[in-house]
Amino acid sequence: MMVGNKAAGGRPGRLATVAPGWWVVLGALAITTTLWGIGRAGMADGALWPWRGVSMLAAAWAITLLSIILLATARSRMIEPMFGGLDRAVRLHRRLGPLAVGLILVHVVFYIPPTVIQGGSVGDLLVPFWSPTALTFDTIVLYLLLAGTALAYMRHLPYEGWLSLHGLMGPVFLAAAAHSSAEGSTLLAFEPLRFWMWFLVLAGFLAWAYRVLFYRWVAPRYRYRVEAVLPRAGDTVDLVLRPRDRRMIYEPGTFVFINRPGAGSRRELHPFSISSSPAERNLRLSVRMLGDFTRGLAAARPGEPVEVFGPFGSFTPHRYATYRRLVCIGAGIGITPFLGMLRFEMTNDDFRRIWLWYVVRDADNAPYDAEIRDGVLKADSYIDYDLWITPDRGRLTAAQVMAAVAPLDDYAVMLCGRPEFVGDMVRQFLAAGLPRERLIWEDFRFN
Ligand SMILES: Cc1cc2nc3c(=O)[nH]c(=O)nc-3n(C[C@H](O)[C@H](O)[C@H](O)COP(=O)(O)OP(=O)(O)OC[C@H]3O[C@@H](n4cnc5c(N)ncnc54)[C@H](O)[C@@H]3O)c2cc1C
Repeated sequence: MMVGNKAAGGRPGRLATVAPGWWVVLGALAITTTLWGIGRAGMADGALWPWRGVSMLAAAWAITLLSIILLATARSRMIEPMFGGLDRAVRLHRRLGPLAVGLILVHVVFYIPPTVIQGGSVGDLLVPFWSPTALTFDTIVLYLLLAGTALAYMRHLPYEGWLSLHGLMGPVFLAAAAHSSAEGSTLLAFEPLRFWMWFLVLAGFLAWAYRVLFYRWVAPRYRYRVEAVLPRAGDTVDLVLRPRDRRMIYEPGTFVFINRPGAGSRRELHPFSISSSPAERNLRLSVRMLGDFTRGLAAARPGEPVEVFGPFGSFTPHRYATYRRLVCIGAGIGITPFLGMLRFEMTNDDFRRIWLWYVVRDADNAPYDAEIRDGVLKADSYIDYDLWITPDRGRLTAAQVMAAVAPLDDYAVMLCGRPEFVGDMVRQFLAAGLPRERLIWEDFRFN
């Protein structure tokens, strides 16, 4: 039996494992802060320091973060490498949203004392139409931002509603930028800062316009047609697509957005991991039927056109080539990216040591068990496969996985499944001491 070697290049250092998106955030904030500091140094309204200063800096940071959020969610193949893949970009945007809104609140709160000191009215600052001098436009923008963010983080908002809400954020962002460019004294006084902030605003706005207004027309797409729709056990279908002209090149584990132009106008493109191998001509998506779109796929007819946008994401073993030992855990339909990886393993001689768990709620809901068993036999890598039926064996835990892999400790763990499952396993692995940089996950969630 062959056993995988240690990572050829050694383990990545701690700094190298910080998600690339955070470098973008830190870099942009550093530029904003430096330019703002230089601009501020040349100004002379010391009496209102620190209130107005903190307020203005918080506003500049908020605009910086908001433009990064719009860039991160642009669904552009050109931009996603800046964030280490679209899946990580989306996760980053979820964390930046409340930060940006928190900074806007700091901006408002710190603006109140200097206004009062100068004999101004708090009502003018906070209540639209309070008086003829009220900042009506700015306060409405503020409340729209707060309401939009609160709604976006509500767990039970329907996906389409949640997405439309995000679509509205572009104009709100522009309005906030217009406010800061008209009111920000440092911004008005210091040309380099003004240039930088407008650059950020323009980048954010273009990213929003690309994603929300023009995506269907300008985003690179591949034209496929339905070759077959194969029903599987457990409410699952395989959608097999054939390229109509050029075929998409992708890494195993990545995902695409699809559109069915012939099936009525759908407003939203839906993401699915690719479950075929890049070595195959046909593209396969394995889909669990949940709602309108996925149920509709079962009725797709051979020959029907399908538009494919992508590939996206960083959930691919190639990006983590330094780790020669991989623990892969797919729960339910979260097995799909691993199916693609396994099929690729059958033609790939890049030997790795792999442990694969397929976690299901019962044997009838394990549509890919036979395919995996077959693939494991044919793959060049040495793979241990375990079908984990939860009612029979209890919930799979990180401790059980680590015990099965012991005494080795230089593996990376790839997890995919529903957000609750993935979140729980990530917490368990971290608590058990697995370094964060060796945890790679995808949770099939954008909202
Ligand atoms: C990166 C990624 C990879 C995925 N891979 C697969 C896969 O390989 N197989 C699979 O069966 N499913 C996959 N999904 C989930 C799949 O996209 C949704 O189940 C599907 O879009 C649901 O659409 P619906 O109209 O049928 O159901 P709905 O009832 O509209 O939605 C059910 C749930 O799916 C999510 N969802 C709905 N629409 C979208 C959308 N356009 N984009 C993102 N999430 C949405 C929402 O959380 C919603 O609550 C993946 C999701 C992501 C984010």
